[in-house]
Amino acid sequence: MEASQADLAELAKEHLYPNYRQPPIVLVRGRGSELWDAAGRRYLDLYAGIAVSTLGHAHPKLSAAIAKQAEQLIHVSNYFYNEPNARLSAKLCQLAQMDRVFFCNSGTEAIEALLKLARRHFFTKGQTERYRVIAFHNAFHGRTLGALAATGQPKYKDGFGPLPGVTHVAYGDLAAVEAAMGPDVAGVLVEPVQGEGGVLPAPPGFLAGLRALTERHGALLLLDEVQTGVGRTGRFLAAEHDGVQADAVALAKALGGGVPIGAMLCKRHLEDALPPGSHGSTFGGNPLASAAALAVLEVLEEERLLEGAEQKGEHLLAGLQQLQQRHERWVATARGRGLLQALVLRDHVDARAVQEKLRDAGVLLTLAGGQALRFSPALTISNEQIDEALAIVDRTLGGLS
Ligand SMILES: *Cc1c(COP(=O)(O)O)cnc(C)c1O
Repeated sequence: MEASQADLAELAKEHLYPNYRQPPIVLVRGRGSELWDAAGRRYLDLYAGIAVSTLGHAHPKLSAAIAKQAEQLIHVSNYFYNEPNARLSAKLCQLAQMDRVFFCNSGTEAIEALLKLARRHFFTKGQTERYRVIAFHNAFHGRTLGALAATGQPKYKDGFGPLPGVTHVAYGDLAAVEAAMGPDVAGVLVEPVQGEGGVLPAPPGFLAGLRALTERHGALLLLDEVQTGVGRTGRFLAAEHDGVQADAVALAKALGGGVPIGAMLCKRHLEDALPPGSHGSTFGGNPLASAAALAVLEVLEEERLLEGAEQKGEHLLAGLQQLQQRHERWVATARGRGLLQALVLRDHVDARAVQEKLRDAGVLLTLAGGQALRFSPALTISNEQIDEALAIVDRTLGGLS
């Protein structure tokens, strides 16, 4: 007999470590930007597994690439090259305009690699005193102790300290970065749009200012594009909007279209920082994950999803701005870049309750920075689906009291 949704949810609730707060819903199937739960209910997916399911669910080309690779070779470790990984490395370096790529399995690991790269780079140059990193309040960089040290939000860090080695300053404040600079600074780590912090795009000129500042002080510019990268904002990397090239960049979320894979990419001048034995990953870049990422990058080009993200992002933002005007009592502002947008609720609104009402009405969204309803749909979503979701948000906000 098939287990009911309630039975499955109960099973999970009894055994899973309780560090999340799932509703009693078990998702079983998806297609594009639609999801179905074990009770047969349909949802519009406006979060795409937290900006991960780039091509939506069950994209035929991605599913076929994974199935084909699974039948051929899933894993070999980095003791040997593998074909999908070799092809992926070339494609990814070309798209990101970088020279070298290290593969891992998550955003946190990509950030960890970025931080280790920065420290080890100066170590190999004999500048062992250069280890400090400048990062930003509100930043989210991941959950390992290294990535957590760089994260700039107490709610993720409380109880895990001490986490030394990182100085946090206000996002967007170049003067504060300059003041925090010193001969001990290895790099500045920055998100082009603060994602978890509430979908806050960098102010104009900020990234270019950081580029100039790091160059002047002999430090590295390290980009966290884990959430913004792989086309989400309408460019392959979000920093392209500002014409900025970093020394190294971290990617993950969208890269595998749902299959776990992360990447740290860097310029040639950093290629000697992590010699054989100094860093590694058992699973990193394995054939299965690499085949998935390669399929994602191919579909990104075939279906012109970067242009799509830019156009649909404008459509979404225009819709959100209308919602803001119609529901000023509840909505403070709408902001974002490409298909990473937010409707920011006023401080007196219970954002979690709104998120739950939306779910009950059939729209799945995540919260960011407390008050922001974050829209991070698949890049394959249609304007019609965006409109369908916005109509439900409109009705839901209209029903608040
Ligand atoms: C999600 C995220 C991370 C961490 O990625 P995980 O895959 O959860 O480890 C790091 N940086 C940013 C900007 C993110 O959005």
